[in-house]
Amino acid sequence: MKIDEMRIEALVHQMTLEEKLGMIHGTGLFHTGGVPRLGIPELRMSDGPMGVRAEFADDAWVSTGHGEDLVTYLPCGSAIASTWDPDMARLAGDVLGCEARGRGKDVILGPGINIKRSPLCGRSFEYMSEDPCLTAQLARAYVEGVQQNDVAACPKHFAANGQETERLWVDTLVDERTLQEIYFPAFRAVAEGGAYTMMAAYNRLNGEHCCTSPQLLENVLRRQWHYDGVVISDWGGVHDTLAAAASPLDIEMDVRPDFDRYHMAQPLKRLVCSGDVPMAQIDAKVRNILRLMMRLRMIGPGSGERRHGAYNLPRHRQAALEIARESIVLLKNEGGLLPLDKGRVKTVAVIGDNAVRMHSCGGGSAEIKALYEHTPLRGIAMLLGGGATVRYAPGYVAPSREEADDGVSWQAESTSGQGDAPTRREASAEERARALDEALRLAQTADAVIFVGGLNHDFDSEGLDRPDMKLPYGQDEVLAALLAARPDTIVVLLAGSPVEMPWLASAHALVWSYYNGMEGGTALAEVLFGEVNPSGRLAESFPQSLNQCPAHQLGEFGKRDTVRYRDGLMVGYRHYDTADTPVNFCFGHGLGYSPFAYSAMHMVSCAGQWQVSLTVRNTGAYP
Ligand code: BGC
Repeated sequence: MKIDEMRIEALVHQMTLEEKLGMIHGTGLFHTGGVPRLGIPELRMSDGPMGVRAEFADDAWVSTGHGEDLVTYLPCGSAIASTWDPDMARLAGDVLGCEARGRGKDVILGPGINIKRSPLCGRSFEYMSEDPCLTAQLARAYVEGVQQNDVAACPKHFAANGQETERLWVDTLVDERTLQEIYFPAFRAVAEGGAYTMMAAYNRLNGEHCCTSPQLLENVLRRQWHYDGVVISDWGGVHDTLAAAASPLDIEMDVRPDFDRYHMAQPLKRLVCSGDVPMAQIDAKVRNILRLMMRLRMIGPGSGERRHGAYNLPRHRQAALEIARESIVLLKNEGGLLPLDKGRVKTVAVIGDNAVRMHSCGGGSAEIKALYEHTPLRGIAMLLGGGATVRYAPGYVAPSREEADDGVSWQAESTSGQGDAPTRREASAEERARALDEALRLAQTADAVIFVGGLNHDFDSEGLDRPDMKLPYGQDEVLAALLAARPDTIVVLLAGSPVEMPWLASAHALVWSYYNGMEGGTALAEVLFGEVNPSGRLAESFPQSLNQCPAHQLGEFGKRDTVRYRDGLMVGYRHYDTADTPVNFCFGHGLGYSPFAYSAMHMVSCAGQWQVSLTVRNTGAYP
């Protein structure tokens, strides 16, 4: 779109300092100020990225919605990445953009495109992959999908935001080559691909806070990548007024409701008035925001034609289902245990807390109020209908994380916390024994046994890294016992990041699902019963144990002051492949129900490269 820079200039010229400052900092928890007399609206934002988040009061982290903020719940970033399909990423983006616009938003705070460096990072589920190339391609498509709805995507968190522990202060030390080859490519792809906004990360990078970093934002983003979009701080990521003014940061957001005290509010006004900050620095930010508003058709000639969006459309639910179907990964299937035969199975034992748990309402800022969420148990029951009896037992006890019951939202305090381990209630030995006993008895009576366990958002969560890579709640023991009693147990793990699997050798069928949106249970049942051929492939390696992961071998993860990325380029498969380390499942792994035949391979050498062509034929019964 051709931007009318003259018009932008004319608007800036007419604005008072107060009006300009209103536009460059949050005047509500999720919006900036407008200038009504000049027809400039507020800029309204929302999280992101699995759906449009609930409405909050302007100045407190209390939800205001009465149900009109229920929305489509999409598969998480890791699930989208497992499709390896830019069209699926574009579809997810399109749904999100349309719903954001439908809810009256201008910016949706996503996608999350940080590189998965450790399985323990609490926000792994929001992110896509350990591979920069895959992340870049999917992120770009996703952003296009969002923005075709006249809503800005806000890829986050720029850059190298790889842990939650002490996330506001930790200094991440990364060498130039590693940044350029691993941690930057996805951000570069979306910056050059036209993402209208970008969120700067909480952490420090090589000594500078990302939100105000001259090196990251000026040298890399603006100069090397020629980015002319709007840079938004993560909520509470700005710590210095002068640095903020001088940096390419355009909008300061925070979790605190004392908006006038934000750095880019009254403190900045004082510095402008005293002559310490030139007006030109403020004008540059305002110009970027006005340009964004023109791109979004919020102001200017095209404003009458801005898309209106809509939410909870049937096609959005259908999209959520399609992406979920494509994302499920069949990790293991010995003896063709899967798919189960719908005609033969008359009694099904479904075991495990994740069969009935809803995940949409957790995880941190990615939480949403889903219109509904079909759990695995419901998906299985709906698919089998009257043809079979489906019974459920929890198998293990999963007490919810104990929240401080003081009525204060976690986010209000999220910039003062350090990512400390929360208090978790442990189930007693009797409770555990009783749950296992009940599950074993149920398993003995069923034609098919399906275990659905894994993690939940008490573990995969913003503000908190996982303590280890183990399955919680004693699930390893439950699985060992269950697999001993019923070796044909189908194991389904639902989580946001890899786990250790000490029982793996005795499991014949293993299915992996990330947090898979409102239709996740439907899609899972379809895969288990062969109505859908699983075609998801891992977008990250699944190591056998934590100490195989270089970040952990080097002791460079989760430290509070400084984390030195001494693993360099050796992230994910780059390390496992180079060091010849056997993993549980490698990057790209994923089975299907159909066999394939390869034939007629030709290799032609041209200019030092090989061109390979071959015929691939699906010789099985599944599309
Ligand atoms: C998160 C961001 C989020 C923002 C607004 C921050 O705590 O890191 O990802 O967009 O809050 O909720």
